[in-house]
Amino acid sequence: MNRINILDDLTINKIAAGEVVERPSSIVKELVENCVDANSSKIIIDIIDGGKKLIKITDNGSGISSSEVDKSFLRHATSKIEKIDDLYDLYSLGFRGEALASISSICKLEMVTKTKDECVGTKVIVEGGKVVSKQPIGANNGTTMIIKDVFYNTPVRQKFLKSTHAETINISDLINKLAIGNPHIQFKYVNNGKAMLNTPGDSKLISVIRSIYGKDVCENLIEIEYECKNFKINGYIGNNNVYRSNKNLQHIYINKRFVKSKVILDAVAEAYKAIIPINKHCVCFLNMELNPASIDVNIHPTKLEIKFENEQELYIELRDFLKQKLLNSKLIGKYEVYD
Ligand code: ADP
Ligand code: MG
Repeated sequence: MNRINILDDLTINKIAAGEVVERPSSIVKELVENCVDANSSKIIIDIIDGGKKLIKITDNGSGISSSEVDKSFLRHATSKIEKIDDLYDLYSLGFRGEALASISSICKLEMVTKTKDECVGTKVIVEGGKVVSKQPIGANNGTTMIIKDVFYNTPVRQKFLKSTHAETINISDLINKLAIGNPHIQFKYVNNGKAMLNTPGDSKLISVIRSIYGKDVCENLIEIEYECKNFKINGYIGNNNVYRSNKNLQHIYINKRFVKSKVILDAVAEAYKAIIPINKHCVCFLNMELNPASIDVNIHPTKLEIKFENEQELYIELRDFLKQKLLNSKLIGKYEVYD
């Protein structure tokens, strides 16, 4: 019979990284979410070769104090929760304490960080999940993460990386989503030296939408704001003059976290049923606020899925509100009922 092995930390982290870090865009997601959680007002994302060669992310947030830096790379190390009940009152994007441990186990990582209470910053180099160098360094308040050679020590994963173009599209899409979810933060995104996005950080959702999708989309949006038993909602929905053949312009946020939610997408589709042609998809930017105790975000390590306590009620409330709003709005041109 084979002996039972207790796996070492690096092996455990590499296995866990398989779930959290699927591709370079997963790294960008985790690191930018950390910048958001650190109360940053400006986040700069620099990418080379679809993130395969370099991902550099700089924020002006809280930073990590020198004494805590080593801990941040340990598995299940988080400053965002203390106990399981904290999940019922969660407003941060992170809480699993897995990202830095996972990411640093499958790439080369350098971090420079400084809190506002420290005079000097700290620079660490982490390889194979271990801090190999740590020294004081002059730095601005906030954190810079430099990720090089993604999956360098997991060759199978590296082989399955998609083309630079495909990875870039994924990262761009992800940064758009994070920027839309955080209009109060200025997002600057540079890809291979080319400026791709620069949002003003003026707290106006419409400014972010204009930066990303231009004025044509903006001109066809209806502003929404509403509160009912199960949720509060604000944002924008497209009129009958703007629709797409895919769902790429359907952005759904629950308590500031972008999610893939079938219930919500179904409610939206149902509301638009007689408004836009069949097989077309509306444009929407929905910020929903729910009581954190009535949702579960801990379904998958990527935290993209969500479970609702009152799913059916929520579906009806959202569908009916959107439908009513659309019918009461001045739709562009001839109002056609497609069916
Ligand atoms: P989580 O986000 O789930 O807490 P992570 O592994 O992503 O776990 O990060 C571990 C900890 O490191 C965070 O809880 C936070 O305290 C700290 N941290 C990570 N990135 C940043 C950042 N950009 N600014 C400030 N603190 C950070
Ligand atoms: Mg995190």
